[in-house]
Amino acid sequence: MSEEIKATNFIHSIIDKDNETGKYGGEVYTRFPPEPNGYLHIGHAKSICLNFSTAQKYGGHCNLRYDDTNPLKEDIEYVKSIEEDVKWLGFEWDKRLWASDYFDEMYEGAITLIKKGKAYVDDLTAEQIREYRGTLKEPGKESPYRNRSVEENLKLFEEMKAGVYKDGEKVLRAKIDMSSPNINMRDPVIYRIAHSEHHNTGDKWCIYPMYDYAHPIEDAIEGITHSICTLEFEDHRPLYEWTLNEIGKWPTPPQQIEFARLNLTNTIMSKRNLKKFVDEGLVEGWDDPRMPTIAGIRRRGYTPESIRNFCDRIGVAKANSLVDAGLLEYCIRDNLQNTVSSKNVVENPIKVIITNYPEGQIEYLPIENNRNNEELGERMVPFGRELWIDGEDFMENPPKKYFRMFVGNEVRFKGAYFIKCNEVVKNDDGTVKELLCTYDPETKSGNNFEGRKVKGTIHWVEATTAKEIEIRNYEYLLVDDGEGNQVFNKDSLEVVKGYAEPSINDVTAGERLQFFRHGYYIADVKLTTDDKKVFNRIVGLKSSFKLPK
Ligand code: ATP
Ligand code: MG
Repeated sequence: MSEEIKATNFIHSIIDKDNETGKYGGEVYTRFPPEPNGYLHIGHAKSICLNFSTAQKYGGHCNLRYDDTNPLKEDIEYVKSIEEDVKWLGFEWDKRLWASDYFDEMYEGAITLIKKGKAYVDDLTAEQIREYRGTLKEPGKESPYRNRSVEENLKLFEEMKAGVYKDGEKVLRAKIDMSSPNINMRDPVIYRIAHSEHHNTGDKWCIYPMYDYAHPIEDAIEGITHSICTLEFEDHRPLYEWTLNEIGKWPTPPQQIEFARLNLTNTIMSKRNLKKFVDEGLVEGWDDPRMPTIAGIRRRGYTPESIRNFCDRIGVAKANSLVDAGLLEYCIRDNLQNTVSSKNVVENPIKVIITNYPEGQIEYLPIENNRNNEELGERMVPFGRELWIDGEDFMENPPKKYFRMFVGNEVRFKGAYFIKCNEVVKNDDGTVKELLCTYDPETKSGNNFEGRKVKGTIHWVEATTAKEIEIRNYEYLLVDDGEGNQVFNKDSLEVVKGYAEPSINDVTAGERLQFFRHGYYIADVKLTTDDKKVFNRIVGLKSSFKLPK
Protein backbone atom coordinates (compact mmCIF):
# COMPACT_ATOMS: atom_id res chain seq x y z
CA MET A 1 0.00 0.00 0.00
CA SER A 2 1.32 3.41 -0.94
CA GLU A 3 2.48 5.82 1.75
CA GLU A 4 0.44 8.78 0.58
CA ILE A 5 -2.90 7.29 1.52
CA LYS A 6 -1.77 6.51 5.06
CA ALA A 7 -3.79 8.92 7.14
CA THR A 8 -2.00 10.72 9.94
CA ASN A 9 -1.99 8.81 13.16
CA PHE A 10 -1.75 10.75 16.41
CA ILE A 11 -1.03 7.55 18.32
CA HIS A 12 2.20 7.10 16.43
CA SER A 13 3.15 10.66 17.33
CA ILE A 14 2.68 9.82 21.01
CA ILE A 15 4.85 6.73 20.61
CA ASP A 16 7.52 8.72 18.77
CA LYS A 17 7.67 11.09 21.74
CA ASP A 18 7.85 8.23 24.24
CA ASN A 19 10.70 6.74 22.23
CA GLU A 20 12.52 10.08 22.27
CA THR A 21 12.25 10.42 26.03
CA GLY A 22 12.96 6.73 26.53
CA LYS A 23 9.82 6.34 28.64
CA TYR A 24 9.48 2.62 27.94
CA GLY A 25 13.09 2.09 26.85
CA GLY A 26 12.00 2.11 23.22
CA GLU A 27 9.54 -0.78 23.77
CA VAL A 28 6.17 -0.80 22.03
CA TYR A 29 3.81 -3.45 23.32
CA THR A 30 0.11 -3.38 22.38
CA ARG A 31 -2.78 -5.78 22.74
CA PHE A 32 -6.11 -6.54 21.14
CA PRO A 33 -8.52 -7.37 23.99
CA PRO A 34 -11.86 -8.73 22.73
CA GLU A 35 -14.55 -9.95 25.04
CA PRO A 36 -15.48 -13.40 23.65
CA ASN A 37 -19.22 -12.66 23.63
CA GLY A 38 -19.86 -12.48 19.89
CA TYR A 39 -18.24 -12.41 16.48
CA LEU A 40 -15.88 -9.58 15.65
CA HIS A 41 -17.08 -6.85 13.31
CA ILE A 42 -15.41 -4.36 11.00
CA GLY A 43 -15.05 -1.95 13.94
CA HIS A 44 -12.89 -4.54 15.65
CA ALA A 45 -10.92 -4.84 12.41
CA LYS A 46 -9.99 -1.20 12.85
CA SER A 47 -8.73 -1.91 16.35
CA ILE A 48 -6.91 -5.07 15.20
CA CYS A 49 -5.18 -3.26 12.33
CA LEU A 50 -4.23 -0.39 14.61
CA ASN A 51 -2.84 -2.50 17.44
CA PHE A 52 -1.01 -5.07 15.34
CA SER A 53 0.37 -2.69 12.74
CA THR A 54 1.51 -0.23 15.39
CA ALA A 55 3.52 -3.03 17.01
CA GLN A 56 4.86 -4.03 13.59
CA LYS A 57 5.85 -0.49 12.71
CA TYR A 58 7.96 -0.12 15.85
CA GLY A 59 9.36 -3.64 15.92
CA GLY A 60 7.27 -4.36 19.01
CA HIS A 61 4.71 -6.99 19.96
CA CYS A 62 0.96 -7.34 20.17
CA ASN A 63 -0.96 -9.82 22.32
CA LEU A 64 -4.36 -11.31 21.72
CA ARG A 65 -6.00 -11.18 25.12
CA TYR A 66 -9.49 -12.40 25.86
CA ASP A 67 -11.23 -10.10 28.24
CA ASP A 68 -13.12 -12.85 30.00
CA THR A 69 -13.70 -11.27 33.39
CA ASN A 70 -17.49 -11.55 33.04
CA PRO A 71 -18.38 -15.22 33.60
CA LEU A 72 -21.84 -15.02 32.07
CA LYS A 73 -21.55 -14.23 28.41
CA GLU A 74 -18.60 -16.10 27.01
CA ASP A 75 -18.61 -18.94 24.55
CA ILE A 76 -15.87 -21.06 23.01
CA GLU A 77 -17.45 -20.70 19.54
CA TYR A 78 -16.60 -17.01 19.74
CA VAL A 79 -13.01 -17.69 20.75
CA LYS A 80 -12.48 -19.81 17.65
CA SER A 81 -14.01 -17.22 15.38
CA ILE A 82 -11.92 -14.40 16.87
CA GLU A 83 -8.69 -16.26 16.18
CA GLU A 84 -9.75 -17.14 12.66
CA ASP A 85 -10.60 -13.49 12.00
CA VAL A 86 -7.33 -12.07 13.34
CA LYS A 87 -5.32 -14.56 11.28
CA TRP A 88 -7.42 -13.93 8.21
CA LEU A 89 -6.69 -10.22 8.47
CA GLY A 90 -3.03 -11.19 8.22
CA PHE A 91 -1.80 -10.69 11.77
CA GLU A 92 -0.01 -12.90 14.26
CA TRP A 93 -0.20 -12.37 17.97
CA ASP A 94 2.81 -12.54 20.22
CA LYS A 95 0.97 -14.28 23.07
CA ARG A 96 -2.59 -15.50 23.42
CA LEU A 97 -3.79 -14.79 26.92
CA TRP A 98 -6.83 -14.85 29.16
CA ALA A 99 -7.61 -12.04 31.56
CA SER A 100 -9.05 -14.66 33.93
CA ASP A 101 -5.53 -16.04 34.39
CA TYR A 102 -4.81 -12.90 36.38
CA PHE A 103 -7.67 -13.27 38.88
CA ASP A 104 -5.22 -14.06 41.68
CA GLU A 105 -3.18 -10.94 41.07
CA MET A 106 -6.31 -8.84 40.77
CA TYR A 107 -7.45 -10.19 44.10
CA GLU A 108 -4.07 -9.37 45.68
CA GLY A 109 -4.35 -5.88 44.22
CA ALA A 110 -7.70 -5.47 45.95
CA ILE A 111 -6.18 -6.56 49.26
CA THR A 112 -3.42 -3.99 48.77
CA LEU A 113 -6.02 -1.29 48.23
CA ILE A 114 -8.01 -2.32 51.29
CA LYS A 115 -4.88 -2.32 53.44
CA LYS A 116 -4.03 1.17 52.21
CA GLY A 117 -7.53 2.33 53.12
CA LYS A 118 -8.30 2.77 49.43
CA ALA A 119 -11.10 0.28 49.10
CA TYR A 120 -14.07 -0.77 51.22
CA VAL A 121 -16.86 -3.29 51.28
CA ASP A 122 -20.24 -1.67 50.74
CA ASP A 123 -23.65 -3.10 51.65
CA LEU A 124 -25.70 -0.64 49.63
CA THR A 125 -27.82 -2.18 46.89
CA ALA A 126 -27.02 -1.51 43.23
CA GLU A 127 -29.93 0.89 43.12
CA GLN A 128 -28.81 2.79 46.23
CA ILE A 129 -25.29 3.02 44.85
CA ARG A 130 -26.73 4.57 41.71
CA GLU A 131 -28.76 7.06 43.76
CA TYR A 132 -25.81 7.97 45.98
CA ARG A 133 -23.60 8.50 42.96
CA GLY A 134 -25.09 11.93 42.21
CA THR A 135 -25.23 13.55 38.80
CA LEU A 136 -23.09 15.70 36.58
CA LYS A 137 -24.42 18.74 38.44
CA GLU A 138 -24.59 17.36 41.96
CA PRO A 139 -21.85 15.67 43.95
CA GLY A 140 -22.42 12.16 45.20
CA LYS A 141 -23.17 11.10 48.76
CA GLU A 142 -20.87 8.94 50.81
CA SER A 143 -22.05 5.47 51.69
CA PRO A 144 -22.62 4.85 55.42
CA TYR A 145 -20.24 1.86 55.04
CA ARG A 146 -17.44 3.98 53.60
CA ASN A 147 -15.51 4.29 56.82
CA ARG A 148 -15.29 0.67 57.85
CA SER A 149 -11.95 -0.24 59.38
CA VAL A 150 -9.28 -1.98 57.34
CA GLU A 151 -9.71 -5.10 59.49
CA GLU A 152 -13.44 -5.20 58.93
CA ASN A 153 -13.02 -4.69 55.19
CA LEU A 154 -10.43 -7.45 54.96
CA LYS A 155 -12.72 -9.81 56.83
CA LEU A 156 -15.80 -8.94 54.76
CA PHE A 157 -13.94 -9.17 51.46
CA GLU A 158 -12.55 -12.55 52.52
CA GLU A 159 -16.12 -13.65 53.26
CA MET A 160 -17.33 -12.35 49.90
CA LYS A 161 -14.69 -14.52 48.27
CA ALA A 162 -15.59 -17.51 50.46
CA GLY A 163 -19.18 -17.41 49.24
CA VAL A 164 -20.81 -16.22 52.43
CA TYR A 165 -22.97 -13.65 50.60
CA LYS A 166 -25.45 -13.80 47.79
CA ASP A 167 -25.13 -12.01 44.44
CA GLY A 168 -25.57 -8.27 44.95
CA GLU A 169 -25.43 -8.40 48.73
CA LYS A 170 -22.06 -6.69 48.95
CA VAL A 171 -19.53 -5.10 46.62
CA LEU A 172 -15.98 -3.85 46.93
CA ARG A 173 -15.58 -0.19 46.03
CA ALA A 174 -12.54 1.97 45.43
CA LYS A 175 -12.40 4.81 47.96
CA ILE A 176 -11.66 7.85 45.83
CA ASP A 177 -13.84 10.95 45.88
CA MET A 178 -17.64 11.13 45.98
CA SER A 179 -17.58 14.74 44.87
CA SER A 180 -15.25 14.29 41.92
CA PRO A 181 -16.51 16.07 38.79
CA ASN A 182 -15.74 12.78 37.02
CA ILE A 183 -18.49 10.37 38.01
CA ASN A 184 -16.23 7.39 37.26
CA MET A 185 -14.11 8.47 40.23
CA ARG A 186 -17.00 8.48 42.71
CA ASP A 187 -16.03 5.31 44.53
CA PRO A 188 -16.50 2.93 41.58
CA VAL A 189 -17.39 -0.70 42.26
CA ILE A 190 -14.33 -2.86 41.59
CA TYR A 191 -15.57 -6.32 42.66
CA ARG A 192 -19.00 -7.86 42.59
CA ILE A 193 -20.39 -11.19 43.71
CA ALA A 194 -21.56 -13.60 40.98
CA HIS A 195 -22.13 -17.23 41.86
CA SER A 196 -21.47 -18.38 38.31
CA GLU A 197 -19.15 -20.95 36.81
CA HIS A 198 -16.38 -19.45 34.75
CA HIS A 199 -15.24 -21.24 31.58
CA ASN A 200 -11.60 -20.99 32.68
CA THR A 201 -11.59 -20.91 36.47
CA GLY A 202 -14.65 -23.08 37.08
CA ASP A 203 -16.11 -22.48 40.53
CA LYS A 204 -12.90 -21.18 42.10
CA TRP A 205 -14.30 -17.66 42.28
CA CYS A 206 -17.64 -16.19 43.16
CA ILE A 207 -16.35 -12.62 43.08
CA TYR A 208 -15.36 -11.06 39.79
CA PRO A 209 -13.46 -7.83 39.08
CA MET A 210 -15.12 -5.01 37.14
CA TYR A 211 -13.74 -4.02 33.75
CA ASP A 212 -12.29 -0.65 34.80
CA TYR A 213 -10.36 -2.25 37.61
CA ALA A 214 -9.31 -5.40 35.75
CA HIS A 215 -8.20 -3.91 32.48
CA PRO A 216 -5.28 -1.77 33.69
CA ILE A 217 -3.99 -4.69 35.76
CA GLU A 218 -4.15 -7.00 32.71
CA ASP A 219 -2.20 -4.45 30.69
CA ALA A 220 0.37 -3.90 33.41
CA ILE A 221 0.99 -7.61 34.02
CA GLU A 222 1.67 -8.13 30.33
CA GLY A 223 4.01 -5.16 30.11
CA ILE A 224 1.76 -3.34 27.65
CA THR A 225 3.15 0.11 26.93
CA HIS A 226 0.33 1.70 24.93
CA SER A 227 -3.17 0.52 25.78
CA ILE A 228 -5.29 1.65 22.86
CA CYS A 229 -9.04 1.79 23.36
CA THR A 230 -12.09 3.60 22.07
CA LEU A 231 -13.18 7.10 22.96
CA GLU A 232 -15.94 6.20 25.41
CA PHE A 233 -13.19 5.19 27.85
CA GLU A 234 -11.63 8.64 27.90
CA ASP A 235 -13.45 9.52 31.14
CA HIS A 236 -12.32 6.23 32.63
CA ARG A 237 -8.64 6.99 32.12
CA PRO A 238 -8.20 8.64 35.56
CA LEU A 239 -9.48 5.41 37.13
CA TYR A 240 -7.11 3.35 34.96
CA GLU A 241 -4.22 5.46 36.23
CA TRP A 242 -5.47 5.56 39.82
CA THR A 243 -5.68 1.76 39.95
CA LEU A 244 -2.12 1.21 38.77
CA ASN A 245 -0.67 3.99 40.90
CA GLU A 246 -2.41 2.87 44.07
CA ILE A 247 -1.51 -0.80 43.67
CA GLY A 248 1.93 0.56 42.92
CA LYS A 249 3.61 -2.59 41.63
CA TRP A 250 4.58 -1.18 38.25
CA PRO A 251 7.21 1.55 38.01
CA THR A 252 6.35 2.51 34.41
CA PRO A 253 2.67 1.69 34.06
CA PRO A 254 1.05 1.43 30.62
CA GLN A 255 -0.74 4.46 29.28
CA GLN A 256 -4.26 4.41 27.93
CA ILE A 257 -4.82 6.18 24.61
CA GLU A 258 -8.29 6.62 23.14
CA PHE A 259 -9.31 6.81 19.49
CA ALA A 260 -12.66 7.21 17.77
CA ARG A 261 -14.56 4.00 17.08
CA LEU A 262 -15.58 3.15 13.58
CA ASN A 263 -19.18 3.70 12.59
CA LEU A 264 -20.36 2.81 9.10
CA THR A 265 -23.49 3.94 7.29
CA ASN A 266 -26.36 1.45 6.85
CA THR A 267 -25.07 -1.07 9.32
CA ILE A 268 -24.45 -1.46 13.02
CA MET A 269 -21.30 -2.02 15.07
CA SER A 270 -22.45 -3.81 18.14
CA LYS A 271 -22.12 -7.46 18.94
CA ARG A 272 -25.24 -7.29 21.07
CA ASN A 273 -27.39 -5.93 18.26
CA LEU A 274 -25.88 -8.22 15.66
CA LYS A 275 -26.59 -11.16 17.93
CA LYS A 276 -30.23 -10.12 17.92
CA PHE A 277 -30.34 -10.35 14.12
CA VAL A 278 -28.89 -13.84 14.37
CA ASP A 279 -31.18 -14.97 17.19
CA GLU A 280 -34.30 -13.61 15.49
CA GLY A 281 -33.38 -15.37 12.25
CA LEU A 282 -33.34 -12.14 10.22
CA VAL A 283 -30.01 -13.24 8.79
CA GLU A 284 -28.60 -16.71 8.13
CA GLY A 285 -26.01 -16.50 10.90
CA TRP A 286 -23.05 -14.49 12.12
CA ASP A 287 -21.38 -15.06 8.76
CA ASP A 288 -24.34 -13.98 6.64
CA PRO A 289 -22.80 -11.96 3.78
CA ARG A 290 -24.88 -8.91 4.75
CA MET A 291 -23.42 -8.79 8.25
CA PRO A 292 -20.63 -6.33 9.13
CA THR A 293 -18.91 -9.15 11.02
CA ILE A 294 -15.47 -10.11 9.77
CA ALA A 295 -16.91 -13.59 9.12
CA GLY A 296 -19.74 -12.07 7.06
CA ILE A 297 -17.45 -9.74 5.16
CA ARG A 298 -15.10 -12.63 4.40
CA ARG A 299 -17.94 -14.80 3.13
CA ARG A 300 -19.27 -11.86 1.12
CA GLY A 301 -15.97 -11.96 -0.76
CA TYR A 302 -13.93 -9.11 0.67
CA THR A 303 -10.18 -9.75 0.78
CA PRO A 304 -8.04 -9.15 3.87
CA GLU A 305 -6.01 -6.71 1.81
CA SER A 306 -9.09 -4.61 1.05
CA ILE A 307 -10.00 -4.43 4.75
CA ARG A 308 -6.48 -3.41 5.77
CA ASN A 309 -6.51 -0.81 3.03
CA PHE A 310 -9.87 0.47 4.29
CA CYS A 311 -8.55 0.75 7.85
CA ASP A 312 -5.54 2.70 6.62
CA ARG A 313 -7.73 5.07 4.65
CA ILE A 314 -10.15 5.85 7.48
CA GLY A 315 -7.20 6.66 9.69
CA VAL A 316 -7.19 7.12 13.43
CA ALA A 317 -8.80 10.18 14.90
CA LYS A 318 -9.88 11.61 18.20
CA ALA A 319 -13.40 12.57 17.05
CA ASN A 320 -16.25 10.20 16.31
CA SER A 321 -17.52 10.14 12.76
CA LEU A 322 -19.62 8.08 10.42
CA VAL A 323 -17.77 6.49 7.50
CA ASP A 324 -19.58 6.03 4.18
CA ALA A 325 -20.00 2.33 3.35
CA GLY A 326 -19.04 3.41 -0.17
CA LEU A 327 -15.42 3.68 0.98
CA LEU A 328 -15.35 0.01 1.95
CA GLU A 329 -16.82 -0.87 -1.45
CA TYR A 330 -14.28 1.35 -3.16
CA CYS A 331 -11.47 -0.57 -1.46
CA ILE A 332 -12.61 -3.99 -2.67
CA ARG A 333 -13.24 -2.74 -6.22
CA ASP A 334 -9.81 -1.18 -6.20
CA ASN A 335 -8.35 -4.49 -5.06
CA LEU A 336 -10.17 -6.72 -7.55
CA GLN A 337 -10.28 -4.66 -10.69
CA ASN A 338 -6.84 -5.69 -11.85
CA THR A 339 -6.67 -9.11 -10.29
CA VAL A 340 -9.71 -11.18 -11.18
CA SER A 341 -10.99 -12.67 -14.45
CA SER A 342 -14.34 -11.87 -15.90
CA LYS A 343 -17.08 -14.19 -17.09
CA ASN A 344 -20.14 -13.63 -19.19
CA VAL A 345 -23.17 -14.10 -17.00
CA VAL A 346 -26.73 -12.95 -17.66
CA GLU A 347 -29.50 -12.43 -15.13
CA ASN A 348 -33.23 -12.66 -15.84
CA PRO A 349 -32.27 -14.09 -19.22
CA ILE A 350 -34.01 -13.45 -22.57
CA LYS A 351 -33.53 -15.86 -25.48
CA VAL A 352 -32.06 -14.58 -28.73
CA ILE A 353 -32.23 -16.58 -31.98
CA ILE A 354 -29.79 -15.58 -34.72
CA THR A 355 -31.93 -16.66 -37.67
CA ASN A 356 -29.16 -16.39 -40.27
CA TYR A 357 -26.59 -18.34 -38.22
CA PRO A 358 -26.18 -22.02 -39.27
CA GLU A 359 -28.18 -24.41 -37.11
CA GLY A 360 -26.08 -26.71 -34.94
CA GLN A 361 -22.90 -24.67 -35.42
CA ILE A 362 -20.84 -23.52 -32.44
CA GLU A 363 -17.71 -21.39 -32.82
CA TYR A 364 -15.28 -20.45 -30.06
CA LEU A 365 -14.32 -16.80 -29.75
CA PRO A 366 -11.43 -15.41 -27.68
CA ILE A 367 -12.40 -13.01 -24.89
CA GLU A 368 -9.87 -11.24 -22.68
CA ASN A 369 -10.10 -12.10 -19.01
CA ASN A 370 -9.26 -8.67 -17.63
CA ARG A 371 -8.74 -5.66 -19.79
CA ASN A 372 -6.56 -4.00 -17.12
CA ASN A 373 -4.28 -6.99 -16.83
CA GLU A 374 -3.01 -8.74 -19.96
CA GLU A 375 -1.28 -11.37 -17.87
CA LEU A 376 -4.63 -12.91 -17.08
CA GLY A 377 -4.86 -13.90 -20.76
CA GLU A 378 -8.01 -14.85 -22.59
CA ARG A 379 -10.50 -17.68 -22.75
CA MET A 380 -12.52 -19.23 -25.57
CA VAL A 381 -16.23 -18.64 -25.30
CA PRO A 382 -18.77 -20.54 -27.42
CA PHE A 383 -21.09 -18.62 -29.72
CA GLY A 384 -24.01 -20.10 -31.67
CA ARG A 385 -27.46 -19.64 -33.10
CA GLU A 386 -29.25 -19.53 -29.73
CA LEU A 387 -28.04 -17.14 -27.09
CA TRP A 388 -29.13 -15.64 -23.79
CA ILE A 389 -28.88 -11.95 -23.08
CA ASP A 390 -29.48 -10.05 -19.87
CA GLY A 391 -33.05 -9.09 -19.02
CA GLU A 392 -31.86 -5.50 -18.68
CA ASP A 393 -30.50 -5.38 -22.20
CA PHE A 394 -33.81 -5.50 -24.03
CA MET A 395 -36.76 -3.10 -23.99
CA GLU A 396 -39.94 -3.22 -25.99
CA ASN A 397 -40.56 0.50 -25.66
CA PRO A 398 -37.14 2.02 -25.17
CA PRO A 399 -36.78 5.55 -23.90
CA LYS A 400 -34.50 8.00 -25.71
CA LYS A 401 -30.79 7.26 -25.33
CA TYR A 402 -31.40 3.54 -24.79
CA PHE A 403 -28.76 1.96 -26.97
CA ARG A 404 -29.26 -1.70 -26.19
CA MET A 405 -31.62 -4.23 -27.82
CA PHE A 406 -34.99 -3.17 -29.23
CA VAL A 407 -36.72 -4.01 -32.44
CA GLY A 408 -34.94 -2.37 -35.35
CA ASN A 409 -31.71 -1.66 -33.43
CA GLU A 410 -28.27 -3.12 -33.99
CA VAL A 411 -25.79 -3.64 -31.15
CA ARG A 412 -22.38 -5.20 -30.67
CA PHE A 413 -22.31 -8.54 -28.88
CA LYS A 414 -19.06 -8.13 -26.97
CA GLY A 415 -16.25 -10.20 -28.53
CA ALA A 416 -18.59 -11.54 -31.28
CA TYR A 417 -20.63 -9.74 -33.95
CA PHE A 418 -23.01 -6.87 -34.65
CA ILE A 419 -26.51 -8.23 -34.17
CA LYS A 420 -29.77 -6.68 -35.21
CA CYS A 421 -33.08 -7.32 -33.47
CA ASN A 422 -35.87 -7.85 -36.01
CA GLU A 423 -38.85 -9.28 -34.15
CA VAL A 424 -40.18 -10.10 -30.68
CA VAL A 425 -41.93 -13.44 -30.25
CA LYS A 426 -44.28 -13.60 -27.27
CA ASN A 427 -45.73 -16.30 -25.05
CA ASP A 428 -49.50 -16.65 -24.72
CA ASP A 429 -49.36 -14.59 -21.52
CA GLY A 430 -47.75 -11.69 -23.32
CA THR A 431 -44.27 -12.13 -21.90
CA VAL A 432 -41.27 -12.16 -24.21
CA LYS A 433 -40.45 -15.66 -25.50
CA GLU A 434 -37.54 -14.85 -27.76
CA LEU A 435 -35.99 -12.23 -29.99
CA LEU A 436 -35.45 -13.04 -33.64
CA CYS A 437 -32.22 -11.43 -34.76
CA THR A 438 -29.68 -11.50 -37.57
CA TYR A 439 -25.91 -11.18 -37.39
CA ASP A 440 -23.45 -9.64 -39.85
CA PRO A 441 -20.45 -11.99 -40.41
CA GLU A 442 -18.35 -9.02 -41.63
CA THR A 443 -18.43 -7.45 -38.18
CA LYS A 444 -16.69 -10.28 -36.38
CA SER A 445 -14.65 -9.01 -33.43
CA GLY A 446 -11.01 -8.57 -34.42
CA ASN A 447 -11.86 -7.98 -38.10
CA ASN A 448 -11.32 -4.24 -37.78
CA PHE A 449 -14.68 -3.70 -39.42
CA GLU A 450 -14.80 -0.09 -40.63
CA GLY A 451 -18.40 0.10 -41.80
CA ARG A 452 -21.32 1.42 -39.78
CA LYS A 453 -21.02 2.15 -36.09
CA VAL A 454 -23.24 0.92 -33.24
CA LYS A 455 -23.69 2.60 -29.88
CA GLY A 456 -24.47 -0.31 -27.59
CA THR A 457 -22.32 -3.25 -26.53
CA ILE A 458 -23.90 -6.07 -24.56
CA HIS A 459 -22.78 -9.44 -23.28
CA TRP A 460 -24.31 -12.83 -23.91
CA VAL A 461 -23.97 -16.56 -23.35
CA GLU A 462 -24.53 -19.39 -25.79
CA ALA A 463 -27.74 -21.19 -24.82
CA THR A 464 -26.94 -24.88 -25.38
CA THR A 465 -23.67 -24.74 -23.38
CA ALA A 466 -24.79 -22.25 -20.72
CA LYS A 467 -24.69 -23.30 -17.09
CA GLU A 468 -27.43 -22.23 -14.72
CA ILE A 469 -26.15 -20.58 -11.55
CA GLU A 470 -27.66 -18.93 -8.48
CA ILE A 471 -26.77 -15.32 -7.82
CA ARG A 472 -27.26 -13.62 -4.47
CA ASN A 473 -27.44 -9.86 -4.68
CA TYR A 474 -27.16 -7.95 -1.43
CA GLU A 475 -28.29 -4.54 -0.31
CA TYR A 476 -27.37 -2.82 2.95
CA LEU A 477 -28.37 -4.56 6.17
CA LEU A 478 -30.11 -1.46 7.53
CA VAL A 479 -32.29 1.18 5.88
CA ASP A 480 -33.94 4.33 7.08
CA ASP A 481 -37.62 3.69 7.85
CA GLY A 482 -38.54 7.21 6.71
CA GLU A 483 -38.65 8.53 10.25
CA GLY A 484 -34.94 8.62 10.85
CA ASN A 485 -34.67 5.13 12.36
CA GLN A 486 -32.26 2.58 11.00
CA VAL A 487 -34.16 -0.69 10.69
CA PHE A 488 -33.52 -4.12 9.19
CA ASN A 489 -33.73 -3.97 5.39
CA LYS A 490 -36.25 -6.59 4.32
CA ASP A 491 -35.01 -6.30 0.74
CA SER A 492 -31.39 -6.89 1.63
CA LEU A 493 -31.22 -10.27 -0.14
CA GLU A 494 -32.29 -10.99 -3.69
CA VAL A 495 -31.77 -14.48 -5.10
CA VAL A 496 -31.84 -14.66 -8.90
CA LYS A 497 -31.18 -17.25 -11.56
CA GLY A 498 -28.37 -16.58 -13.99
CA TYR A 499 -26.83 -18.27 -17.01
CA ALA A 500 -23.08 -18.36 -17.30
CA GLU A 501 -20.62 -19.31 -20.02
CA PRO A 502 -19.47 -22.94 -19.58
CA SER A 503 -16.04 -22.04 -18.14
CA ILE A 504 -17.92 -21.27 -14.91
CA ASN A 505 -17.82 -25.03 -14.31
CA ASP A 506 -14.15 -24.75 -13.37
CA VAL A 507 -14.79 -22.17 -10.67
CA THR A 508 -14.28 -23.47 -7.15
CA ALA A 509 -15.75 -22.27 -3.86
CA GLY A 510 -14.08 -19.07 -2.67
CA GLU A 511 -12.97 -17.94 -6.15
CA ARG A 512 -13.61 -14.30 -7.05
CA LEU A 513 -14.67 -13.11 -10.49
CA GLN A 514 -16.05 -10.17 -12.33
CA PHE A 515 -19.36 -10.83 -14.06
CA PHE A 516 -18.99 -8.66 -17.09
CA ARG A 517 -20.92 -5.38 -16.71
CA HIS A 518 -22.47 -6.46 -13.38
CA GLY A 519 -19.97 -6.50 -10.56
CA TYR A 520 -17.61 -8.63 -8.54
CA TYR A 521 -18.73 -12.00 -7.19
CA ILE A 522 -17.42 -14.86 -5.13
CA ALA A 523 -18.43 -18.52 -5.33
CA ASP A 524 -20.02 -18.90 -1.90
CA VAL A 525 -17.90 -21.13 0.31
CA LYS A 526 -20.85 -22.72 2.06
CA LEU A 527 -23.35 -23.19 -0.76
CA THR A 528 -21.20 -23.93 -3.82
CA THR A 529 -20.79 -27.58 -4.79
CA ASP A 530 -19.39 -29.27 -7.91
CA ASP A 531 -22.88 -29.31 -9.40
CA LYS A 532 -24.40 -26.14 -8.08
CA LYS A 533 -22.64 -22.81 -8.22
CA VAL A 534 -23.89 -20.08 -5.91
CA PHE A 535 -22.38 -16.62 -6.15
CA ASN A 536 -22.45 -13.70 -3.74
CA ARG A 537 -22.29 -10.25 -5.24
CA ILE A 538 -19.41 -8.63 -3.39
CA VAL A 539 -20.03 -5.23 -4.91
CA GLY A 540 -21.48 -3.75 -8.08
CA LEU A 541 -19.23 -2.21 -10.71
CA LYS A 542 -20.61 1.28 -10.54
CA SER A 543 -20.83 3.65 -7.63
CA SER A 544 -21.70 7.24 -6.96
CA PHE A 545 -19.14 7.22 -4.13
CA LYS A 546 -16.29 9.71 -4.56
CA LEU A 547 -13.06 9.44 -2.61
CA PRO A 548 -12.80 12.41 -0.25
CA LYS A 549 -9.99 14.78 -1.24
P1 ATP B 1 -19.35 -4.27 20.97
O1 ATP B 1 -20.05 -3.08 21.56
O2 ATP B 1 -19.59 -4.46 19.52
O3 ATP B 1 -19.55 -5.51 21.77
P2 ATP B 1 -16.95 -3.89 22.36
O4 ATP B 1 -16.17 -2.64 22.39
O5 ATP B 1 -17.74 -4.25 23.56
O6 ATP B 1 -17.83 -3.89 21.07
P3 ATP B 1 -14.79 -5.68 22.77
O7 ATP B 1 -14.71 -7.13 22.47
O8 ATP B 1 -14.79 -5.25 24.16
O9 ATP B 1 -16.06 -5.12 22.01
O10 ATP B 1 -13.69 -4.89 21.94
C1 ATP B 1 -12.38 -5.30 21.66
C2 ATP B 1 -11.62 -4.11 21.16
O11 ATP B 1 -12.18 -3.63 19.93
C3 ATP B 1 -11.70 -2.95 22.15
O12 ATP B 1 -10.41 -2.42 22.31
C4 ATP B 1 -12.65 -1.99 21.50
O13 ATP B 1 -12.35 -0.68 21.86
C5 ATP B 1 -12.42 -2.25 20.01
N1 ATP B 1 -13.61 -1.88 19.24
C6 ATP B 1 -14.87 -2.34 19.39
N2 ATP B 1 -15.73 -1.74 18.54
C7 ATP B 1 -14.98 -0.88 17.80
C8 ATP B 1 -15.29 0.04 16.74
N3 ATP B 1 -16.53 0.19 16.27
N4 ATP B 1 -14.27 0.75 16.21
C9 ATP B 1 -13.02 0.59 16.69
N5 ATP B 1 -12.67 -0.24 17.67
C10 ATP B 1 -13.64 -0.97 18.24
MG1 MG C 1 -18.10 -5.23 25.10
